[in-house]
Amino acid sequence: MTSDPIPLSPKYRLSVVVPCYNEEEVLQELHRRLTAACRDVVDEDYEIVLVNDGSRDKTWPMIRAMSDLDPHVVAVNLSRNHGHQLALTAGLSVCVGDRILIIDADLQDPPELLGDMMDLADQGADVVYGQRVSRAGESWFKKVTAVGFYRFLKLMSDVDIPLDSGDFRLISRRALDTLLSMPEQFRFIRGMVTWIGYKQVPLPYDRAERFAGVTKDPVKKMIRFS
Ligand code: UDP
Ligand code: MG
Repeated sequence: MTSDPIPLSPKYRLSVVVPCYNEEEVLQELHRRLTAACRDVVDEDYEIVLVNDGSRDKTWPMIRAMSDLDPHVVAVNLSRNHGHQLALTAGLSVCVGDRILIIDADLQDPPELLGDMMDLADQGADVVYGQRVSRAGESWFKKVTAVGFYRFLKLMSDVDIPLDSGDFRLISRRALDTLLSMPEQFRFIRGMVTWIGYKQVPLPYDRAERFAGVTKDPVKKMIRFS
């Protein structure tokens, strides 16, 4: 007879996972705003996992310095640039929180929405995904291709992927564990999260401009991703 394994209790109420590629200009501000948002909602009970995706600028030394100074910061360094989705997967596989916030480094997605996301999770949502009502500071090209991309995807896919949402979302530990058990090598995380099921609810928001720096997703990468 075997007994069920004793579940490991999550170490934190919240993990925040951030893929970072050449983000030296935004890291300080990101750390400041994320820290404020986390403290507001879960007090000291959080970790911030910053994943360096083979940056060529000072991103990695900055992340290291932050983790030396702030015990909430977990520094992860990839061997080279693997792209947004794999950097995110690396961070998700090491985080230990009970709920997980996925967010970009550039502050286009406001960390201050964390409180609303946690409330919806308290009401039973396994996934709270940000749904973009507007996009500030993005080129007409990016807007038009994004609108086209999400509608085409909806048409072609069996999975009802919500329109106009990126990877900005809060997910439960059980949803994350399901996601991590999927072996897909070319990962489209937002589609995979939708596919796994459970209760998923949108949170509409206005997407801001990048705090600083330029998009790391040039046209070539966008086409590969599509
Ligand atoms: N990113 C990454 N690896 C890459 C490209 C991007 O980790 O090869 C990160 C980047 O630092 C940011 C997020 O992925 O945190 C989204 O990138 P970006 O803001 O450039 O994309 P956009 O918002 O323009 O689609
Ligand atoms: Mg961005």
